Amino acid sequence: MLVDLRSDTVTMPTEAMREVMAHAPVGDDVYGEDPTVNALEERVAALFGKEAAVFTPSGSLANQLAIRMLVAPGEELLAETNSHIVRAELGAAAVFSGITTRTWPATHGLLNADDAMEIARPASGPYLVSTTAIAVENTHNFGGGTVQPLDQIADLSKRAHYVGISLHLDGARIWNAHIASGVPLIEYAKYFDTVSVCLSKGLGAPVGSLMLSTKEKVTKARVWRKRYGAGMRQIGILAAAGHYALDTNLSSLHHDHRRALFIAEKCHEVVPSIVNPIHVETNIVGLDLSQLSISAAEFAQMLKAEGVLISSLGPKFARIVTHLDIDDAKMKYAAEVLTQTLKSALVAQ
Ligand SMILES: *Cc1c(COP(=O)(O)O)cnc(C)c1O
Repeated sequence: MLVDLRSDTVTMPTEAMREVMAHAPVGDDVYGEDPTVNALEERVAALFGKEAAVFTPSGSLANQLAIRMLVAPGEELLAETNSHIVRAELGAAAVFSGITTRTWPATHGLLNADDAMEIARPASGPYLVSTTAIAVENTHNFGGGTVQPLDQIADLSKRAHYVGISLHLDGARIWNAHIASGVPLIEYAKYFDTVSVCLSKGLGAPVGSLMLSTKEKVTKARVWRKRYGAGMRQIGILAAAGHYALDTNLSSLHHDHRRALFIAEKCHEVVPSIVNPIHVETNIVGLDLSQLSISAAEFAQMLKAEGVLISSLGPKFARIVTHLDIDDAKMKYAAEVLTQTLKSALVAQ
């Protein structure tokens, strides 16, 4: 058996999804004439209570378009130390938008409004860099799928906007936060000026993200999307996968959460320090190997030999992500291989 737990991006489009894609009505999206794309943009904007949305090939581009709308060259964006925007977009904000970033560290990536506001320096005058936006990641990927507390989001939004700082939500996995917490998508989005969401993570589409904001910002972002080379043509084929994903897969995310928790609990029973199941709120399990003699890369290699793939993201940090293509049988197999491998790693110490 092969169980791929490296990411929720590894899902394969189902026959039913491919069927819907194959028959999607299409048009030239650069001319704004693709009915399936237009419907998806309207649908997702409405889901989050925003005026408009623009479809992008990746979540990184959706984030980068948002940053381009909120932060001018030479200004700065604040984000958590291990946020995707800072760690996993290859410096795109600096390269594309000519901006700088500053970071605050947070355990499990958990948002505390004080942390961000303490380092914020809005309207810093002609000699110092001005903070013009703050990004919040929900759920927090490298934090282990952390769901951000609504009271902290609300507090940050109030204090940041009061001093003229805009807020961006990196909501690649906002769907998971919504399903785990029961907080409506509109409620999550209302505190932010721009929002990015991914259809290619837990929702299982092969490609597709959107950037949501006001009509004005989305109209400007469309120009930048084209400038960056991502003006696409008959992409209703891709947008159809997004529609299908929203129709059928949103409601099953709670299974991914249940399976992640199961795997975390089994690992915790063998090595308590490796993960505290309390911190497994969604479909991501962060594994802390600091109490073991092996590295994350060695651990991943040992698991791979048994057919279980995980991501090693730091010398002593690994990540497991459950998704649509992981059923209960695969979950149990992965938990068995993980616990056996942890036991042998303990014996070797
Ligand atoms: C996956 C992800 C993105 C976007 O990634 P792409 O691979 O560019 O689609 C953005 N933010 C977070 C938190 C992510 O996990």
